[in-house]
Amino acid sequence: MSFKDILGHERPIRLLQRGIAGGKVAHSYLFLGAEGIGKSLVALQFAKALNCLEGADTVDACDRCISCKKINRLVHPDVSIIEPQGQTLKVDQVREMQKALAYRPYEGRCRVFILTAADRMAPHMSNTLLKTLEEPPPQTVIILQANHPRWILPTILSRCQPIRFNPLPSHLVSHWLIKAKGLGEREAHLLATLSEGSPGKALEIKEEIAGIPRKELLEGWMGSGSLSMEEKEDWIDSLPSQRENLNLILELAKTLLRDLIVVKTSGEASGLIHADLAEEMEKVAGQWDLSSLLKRMENLHQTARAIKGNANTRLSLEAMMLSWA
Ligand SMILES: [Zn+2]
Repeated sequence: MSFKDILGHERPIRLLQRGIAGGKVAHSYLFLGAEGIGKSLVALQFAKALNCLEGADTVDACDRCISCKKINRLVHPDVSIIEPQGQTLKVDQVREMQKALAYRPYEGRCRVFILTAADRMAPHMSNTLLKTLEEPPPQTVIILQANHPRWILPTILSRCQPIRFNPLPSHLVSHWLIKAKGLGEREAHLLATLSEGSPGKALEIKEEIAGIPRKELLEGWMGSGSLSMEEKEDWIDSLPSQRENLNLILELAKTLLRDLIVVKTSGEASGLIHADLAEEMEKVAGQWDLSSLLKRMENLHQTARAIKGNANTRLSLEAMMLSWA
């Protein structure tokens, strides 16, 4: 693989290639974007392009030379990926990198360090790293990656060239899931819709989504009319208590409701995310008028937002069920 094979991220790639072409590669970059979106993939192709033996003037990797092959196998001595050990990056990891920086690259043109979770380091570590960023050794590129700039010290931010990675369009994620991961069209479409533009997230939620009883969710929840207090409590108890899993169910519920609204407005079941539930969709859609479905969608969005914003999950769900009926 090389830059040209990467789906999306045209702008970050163009910026990096322009740097190579103009001999203006920065000493340190900050790749900003959601988890699993493709930051590491782009960083590795960048390391390959910087070290490719196919010609020093190339702005993309050949993917065939010994340097490219070694980086593909993550065994190139001048390209290191530093991932957090446990929850955070450890100060020893940064020290080790600094030790390595005292020497010239072993065999490549450019030494590349990729720190995958720069937003997960203790403040004292940032200071250690800052020294390196202030006086970068020659022939070295340091790529910091972070989900959000909020957790990065301004002193670090100011010394890196920021490169923002936007969520991929859903159809690209879906295409990738089908072509590269061999998924069926329906599953790929559903996962892509829920992935928030991150191929990594799509894969991460694959098992979880498969375990969620969509039919029961559709008929028992979307299709439910007024429930007794007890039934509401039972229903809430049946949902996962972990916020992350609950968020996923709420996102999935949005796609079910979205389908119901499509069926209701178009009167047919084509173009559904949950095409396998078309029959059930038609039944449930028949029970509700459009305005109640839209109202439910609004409630669902509000609840999901509140729960993401750390509101009490139980209270939020109860309030939703109350307005649901
Ligand atoms: Zn090469």
